[in-house]
Amino acid sequence: MKMLLNGEWVDRDHRIEVKDPFDDSLIDTVPKATSEDVETALTAAVQGFEQAKKLTVYERAQILYKTASIVSENLEDFARLISREGSKTIREARKEASRCVNTLTVSAEEAKRLLGETIPFDSFPGGENRLGYFYRFPIGVVLAITPFNDPLNLVAHKIGPSIAAGNATILKPATVTPLSALKLAGALLEAGLPPLVLQVITGYGSEIGDHLVRDQRVRMVSFTGGVEAGKQIASIAGIKKIGMELGSNSPVIVWEDADLKEAVESCVSGAFWAAGQNCIGVQRIYIHRSIYKEFKKEFVKRTSRYKIGDKLNEETDMGPMITEGEAKRVESWVKEAVDMGASVLTGGKRRGALFDPTVLENVPEGAMIHYEEVFGPTVNLYPVDDLDEALKKANSLPYGLHAAIFTKNVDIAFKGAYGLDCGGVMVNDSTDYRLDSMPFGGIKYSGLGREGIKFSLLEMTEPKVICFNLSR
Ligand code: NAP
Repeated sequence: MKMLLNGEWVDRDHRIEVKDPFDDSLIDTVPKATSEDVETALTAAVQGFEQAKKLTVYERAQILYKTASIVSENLEDFARLISREGSKTIREARKEASRCVNTLTVSAEEAKRLLGETIPFDSFPGGENRLGYFYRFPIGVVLAITPFNDPLNLVAHKIGPSIAAGNATILKPATVTPLSALKLAGALLEAGLPPLVLQVITGYGSEIGDHLVRDQRVRMVSFTGGVEAGKQIASIAGIKKIGMELGSNSPVIVWEDADLKEAVESCVSGAFWAAGQNCIGVQRIYIHRSIYKEFKKEFVKRTSRYKIGDKLNEETDMGPMITEGEAKRVESWVKEAVDMGASVLTGGKRRGALFDPTVLENVPEGAMIHYEEVFGPTVNLYPVDDLDEALKKANSLPYGLHAAIFTKNVDIAFKGAYGLDCGGVMVNDSTDYRLDSMPFGGIKYSGLGREGIKFSLLEMTEPKVICFNLSR
C-alpha cells in the first residue's frame, strides 16, 4: 500500500514489509518515509487545517457517518486485514471492526454536541454591562501516533474526534500494523474528506518520530503506546498539548461472594484477549483466600480449553504474539519468575510467536512479570485475606488504567470502586471492559488526559472567550 501525503497516495523506493506473525508470510509493503516526507506532511497539514476548519459541523458529521457505513459494508475485509497484520483472531478482529463503526458514528454525533456556555460577567464588580460566552475552536494540526494492538479502532479514536473538532491530522501508525490505518484513510477520502485534512505517514517512530513531535506546527500530540516512547515524546514535545494513553498492569479483586463462574469466564477472556496484548488486559488477580482453591481450579480448567493457532480459523480462541521476539521476551519473564519460586499452573510453552495462555501462582513481587506490564498471555493469581490488603496490593504499582472487583456485596463494591487508584473501575466485569464513548485513560504511568470521543474532542479543541462591553 502507499502512504497518504499532500492529498496523494505516494510510494518510495525503500519499503517496509508487513508480515503475518502467525506464519511470517508477506501481506504487503509500505513506504519508509524520509525526513523530506515529514516536511511534506507538516506543510500539507497546515494547509489541510485551513480546509478542515471551513467544513461545517454538518459536513464533518456527514463524512464521519459515511466512513462508518463504508467500514460497516466492508466489515469482513477490515476484520481479515486486522487479523492478518496483527495478533487478533478473526472473531476478535470482527469485534474491533464493528467498534470502529461505533467510534466513527459517535464522533459524528459528538461533533454536533460541542457546546460552549454563556458567562455571568456581572458576577463580580467591574463586570457590569459585560455580556459574553465561550465556544470551542479546533486546536490545529494533531499528530496521532498509534500502537499495533488495535490497528483500526485506536486509529479511529484519534482521527474521528480530530475530524469532528475541525482539525487536520497527521497519523503515524505502528510500523508492524499500518495496513488497517491506510485502508481507513481510503474510506475517509471516499466519504468526501478533503484530502489535505489527513496525512498518513508510514515509517519507524525511532527515525521520523522526533521530527514530527518537535515541530511547532503540530499543536497536539495524541499518543497511544508504551511508557518508554511516551517519555521520549514528552521530553521533546515543547509547548503543545500532549495526550498519552500508555500501558498498565491491571489488577482484579475477586471477593468471597463473587459469582465464581462469571468471574472466571470474564477474567480468562480479559487475560488472553489479543494474546494478552491489551492495555487493559488482566495481569494480577487477588482472590479471597476462602475461594482461592476453587477459583484456581476453574480458572486453570477454562484456560486449558483455549484453542490457539491460526487466526483465521473460526475455532481459534487466541493467536500469536505480534513477533517471535515478543513471545521470547514473555518466555524469559516466565522463566525468571519460576527461577524465583513461582509455579506455572498451565501454559508456559512457546512455539515461534505462539505463547500458550499461562497461569502463574506464588509469583514474587520482585519478578518482572509481577511489577512490569507483561503485554502477553500470562496472568498471576494471589490469595488475599482482607479488602485492605487486596486494595493495597492492587494499588502498589506505578500504573492505573483500569481495575476491577467481583462481588455481590454493595459495600465491598463501593469500597473497591473508590479505593482502587486508576482511571476506571469495573464492578463484576474484568478490567478488559470498555465502551468507546466512556472517558478512557489512566493515572500515574498509564497516561495523561482522556480519550473516548467526547473527551477527546475536549482535548482536541480550545475554549475561546468572547466578551462584549456594551455601551451604557
Ligand atoms: P510503542 O512501541 O510505544 O509504539 C507505539 C507507537 O509509537 C508506534 O507507532 C511507534 O512507531 C511509535 N513510536 C515509537 N517510538 C517513538 C518515538 N520515539 N517517537 C514517536 N513515535 C514513536 O507501543 P506498541 O508496542 O506499539 O504498543 C504497546 C503499548 O501500547 C503497550 O504498552 C500498551 O499498554 C500501550 N497501549 C495503550 C493503550 C491505551 O489506550 N492506554 C491502548 C493500546 C496500547 P513504530 O511502530 O515505528 O516503532
